[in-house]
Amino acid sequence: MRKAAFHNLGCKVNSYETDVMIQAFKEAGYEIVPFESSADVYVVNTCTVTAIADRKSRQMLHRAKKLNPGALVVAAGCYVETDRAKLEADGAVDLLVGNNRKSRIVELVEEALTRGTREIMDREVAELSGHPEYERMTLISPGQTRAYVKIQDGCNQFCTYCIIPYARGRIRSRGSADILEEVRGLAKRGIKEIVLTGIHISSYGMDLDPERRSRLIDLIEALDTVPGMERIRLGSLEPRILTEDFVERLSALPRVCPHFHLSLQSGSSATLARMRRQYTAEDFREGVRRLRAAYDRPALTADVIVGFPGETEEEFAETYAFLKEIDFYEIHVFRYSKRRGTPAAVMPDQVPDSVKAERSDRLEALIRDRSEEFRRSFIGEKAEVLLEEETGLKELYRRTQSELAAGKAGQEEPETGFAGIPEDGRFWIGRTARYVQVLAGCPGAEAGMTVRGILREGPAGLPCLVLEPEKE
Ligand code: SF4
Repeated sequence: MRKAAFHNLGCKVNSYETDVMIQAFKEAGYEIVPFESSADVYVVNTCTVTAIADRKSRQMLHRAKKLNPGALVVAAGCYVETDRAKLEADGAVDLLVGNNRKSRIVELVEEALTRGTREIMDREVAELSGHPEYERMTLISPGQTRAYVKIQDGCNQFCTYCIIPYARGRIRSRGSADILEEVRGLAKRGIKEIVLTGIHISSYGMDLDPERRSRLIDLIEALDTVPGMERIRLGSLEPRILTEDFVERLSALPRVCPHFHLSLQSGSSATLARMRRQYTAEDFREGVRRLRAAYDRPALTADVIVGFPGETEEEFAETYAFLKEIDFYEIHVFRYSKRRGTPAAVMPDQVPDSVKAERSDRLEALIRDRSEEFRRSFIGEKAEVLLEEETGLKELYRRTQSELAAGKAGQEEPETGFAGIPEDGRFWIGRTARYVQVLAGCPGAEAGMTVRGILREGPAGLPCLVLEPEKE
């Protein structure tokens, strides 16, 4: 039996597509093995969102060739689209598979294995600058509790810093009937939670022909009726989509989680205009006001870029004040990184790395305690927790430590168990609808089970609460 190994880089869409590719290889009779072991085929699903992502993509391709020089090494995805020439010239890479060819990857690999790779190399990067079709993919056997469901690809926004429209092409929405079919299938297999994913899901439906056209809110309303699907989470939303009508309809849907990731990028309208974002700080504020009026303590998260070209100290101060005012649950701070071929890469007044680092540190410090305060606001309240995996305290502690960025470490390792958790330290990790991580001691439970109880304080040093299960 041939062996295939995969490595995914980048966003949730890429990770969904990696899962679909793994499924296709399994169906074709391949054994899926860990990336670090010897395989016949290595697939690296690349990312190009920053220069670091490009570098990591190349490193993983080289790593694969080193692990088994006789293997077929496949570069798939976004980096293939943006720097094809470099990958073609790279001796470690045997086959390129572009973004709109991933559903055919097994066929392409088999052809390459029998006919020799260089011959077919050329054909497998689709032309994404026109109006390609949505590439149909369906995920049948993902993880056990939560599944990512891809609803669209591509983006038409062309923000001045972003390479994605070049790597992913224009918007292609997936038909709602196809999405519903996938979600019904996932529910039948016991998946309780879906996350709607895409490159720019707020644009969902705008490219569909008038007969099939539906907007994001129509799609969510349809998904909310799927029997057995308990939770629907939404991927990143644009503030402009948060109209009165959208928020009113959304908040009437019981399965939609009050957890919203909003694209912010900057709290300064001047910076936003240079980024060619289609909203102002005021639009964002208004969207947040509507969400907070409709939901009790929604978990609001956002991405912010520091050091965009021309970002003055005053503009940065506006962002700082804006973040403080909005009071997010979590913020992901990125330092601006030049992407070749984008307008921002050649803008004047590029910000030195030292200034970007200092601004990033200041934002990190500002938001550091916010997540904890938000979590703690639920202590003593009833909650429903969807269980994901069973683990031990030390494992969780180690994982948390490695996830914490440098500079935020320093928590002390808990030595013993804690209230509600059995002596041997085994317990379940799950999430509330607001995505707060919760530990629950419920022996004999299974992934995908919902448990109810009262939320209590979590162990020191871990970003979570503990569930005291309801007495029967
Ligand atoms: S909205 Fe802007 S940042 Fe997001 S993918 Fe499109 S171009 Fe990139």
